[in-house]
Amino acid sequence: MTANPSAATAAVAASRAAERVYNFNPGPAVLPLPVLEEVQRDLLALPGAGMSILEISHRAKEFDAILGGAEADLRKLLGLSENYQMIFLGGGASLQFAMVAMNFLPGDGSADYIISGHWAQQAVKEAKKLGKVNIAASTETEGFVRVPRQEELRLDPGAAYVHFTSNNTIYGTEAPAEPEVGGVPLVCDASSNFLSRVIDPGKYALIYAGAQKNIGPAGLTIVIVREDLLGQPLPTTPSVFDYKVQAEADSMHNTPPTFAVYIAGLVFQWLKKLGGLKKMEEINAAKARLVYDYLDQTEFYHSPVAREDRSRMNIPFTLRNAALDGEFLKQAERHGLTQLKGHRSVGGMRASLYNAMPIEGVHALVAFMREFERNHG
Ligand code: PMP
Repeated sequence: MTANPSAATAAVAASRAAERVYNFNPGPAVLPLPVLEEVQRDLLALPGAGMSILEISHRAKEFDAILGGAEADLRKLLGLSENYQMIFLGGGASLQFAMVAMNFLPGDGSADYIISGHWAQQAVKEAKKLGKVNIAASTETEGFVRVPRQEELRLDPGAAYVHFTSNNTIYGTEAPAEPEVGGVPLVCDASSNFLSRVIDPGKYALIYAGAQKNIGPAGLTIVIVREDLLGQPLPTTPSVFDYKVQAEADSMHNTPPTFAVYIAGLVFQWLKKLGGLKKMEEINAAKARLVYDYLDQTEFYHSPVAREDRSRMNIPFTLRNAALDGEFLKQAERHGLTQLKGHRSVGGMRASLYNAMPIEGVHALVAFMREFERNHG
């Protein structure tokens, strides 16, 4: 034992922080350093509780304050009105593929799905097990390099809902705007661009997002749902999958993922301090511009995505000479730039620039890409 264990712990923590690399993983992803530092500082004893957040009851008053604070901050960040419920759930975004259909797809109806990538296809697969699905449009034959345009959508005015994916994590496309759906409820999988920009929540019936990109660690999914749509699940829907049951219990029908909720709450505070979603949007636009501007003026690298649908969160790019891919990744690692390998269905590289990726990380990436081009171009 050292004479002063907390000083020794702090020294180890400082050296670990200095070891941190720029992590471009698509999720679970980089978290804001001030959040991780706060988690570390309070991990053994939450102020006032004398216990770790990992040990505390979800019914304890301390957790009540954490959950309530997280919800209040997220409502403020989004400018969410009172007629929306906010639910903190486990199960990942994939559970929502099924829950949306369980709660909103009546036995005699059908739902419209806009297919812009792999995750939308997964959403359809689950919904089809529970009811009728109409594919309103798909860009699969084009390799999902763009999202379907408004005029391509074959929407059914009688649909129970329209489902779309606002950002396609694998293909690196992002819907420039919400689809126009008339009076039909709009459901959005916003997992990979939630809180990255200002949105008008009033356009949505339901938004869901897995936490492990812009919100916090894996294990938590946030669902925002218009209250008047609740209460008509398929009769076979288990209680735990019923939005109304979960909403009425304030996300406490069963034990919520307490640690992930705690971290999400800290991330929301970090976002508020930063200046909210408008500021975050400006920073994200600046970060993405750095990469795209470079991709647009080089022949060495190539962006496969349609310009108008370029994602600010996930940027796939290829090397014209794919034989250099392995060397690129190896040298990037040596420069402290990690997890840049693209998804196997796209190949090449992918840089995920979520909210918590500092602009310094993006400068470092572009500087490395330039240097690699100079040495191998
Ligand atoms: N939707 C999108 C847009 C995603 O990127 C992902 C995961 N990368 C999912 C859904 C599935 O999320 P989960 O693994 O949390 O079920």
